[in-house]
Amino acid sequence: MNYYGNELSRLIEELSLLPGIGQKTAQRLAFHIIDLPEENVTRLSDAIVRAKKNIRWCRECFTLTDSEVCPICADSRRDHKTIMVVEDSRDLAAYERTGKYNGVYHVLHGAISPMLGIGPNDIRLKELMTRLRQDVDEVIIATNNSLEGETTAMYISKLIKPTGIKCTRIASGVPVGGDLEYIDEVTLLRALDGRTEL
Ligand code: ZN
Repeated sequence: MNYYGNELSRLIEELSLLPGIGQKTAQRLAFHIIDLPEENVTRLSDAIVRAKKNIRWCRECFTLTDSEVCPICADSRRDHKTIMVVEDSRDLAAYERTGKYNGVYHVLHGAISPMLGIGPNDIRLKELMTRLRQDVDEVIIATNNSLEGETTAMYISKLIKPTGIKCTRIASGVPVGGDLEYIDEVTLLRALDGRTEL
């Protein structure tokens, strides 16, 4: 039943494909967009297109950014000898929000999962090992507390052992299976402070 006509139906359909957006919400958003002044709609669609076009991975840490090197890697006041390994850019954002971590990051873009067929070569692990040829004091493994996160942490620690670089794992005060981005800052800091050597 195409009671809205093609254009509106198409907009609702596209919106409903976004995560967490059901038919009802898609409808509400579509009506909201139609009611907006044209310049606001242009700004919104421009933001989407520009983000998609310009966002890439940082050359150093592989987080999402719009320049060759992200602002964190480009900041000389940060401790470039301490590297925190996270699964994705949202985890990095969670630690940045605490404002207490002064090192740099390495974003894996996933975790090892034999069940899903994701192996060490499918995440940015080789790139981490390349970075470790530089002067590094400590690698803090802050992958999630899920089975995949733990598997990845163990795998990385085994790779790092022979290099003699200190390798730590954040404390497991973080709920099992909990995505780092949903954990409050106090818990994150406690996990970081309570990290143990692997
Ligand atoms: Zn970076």
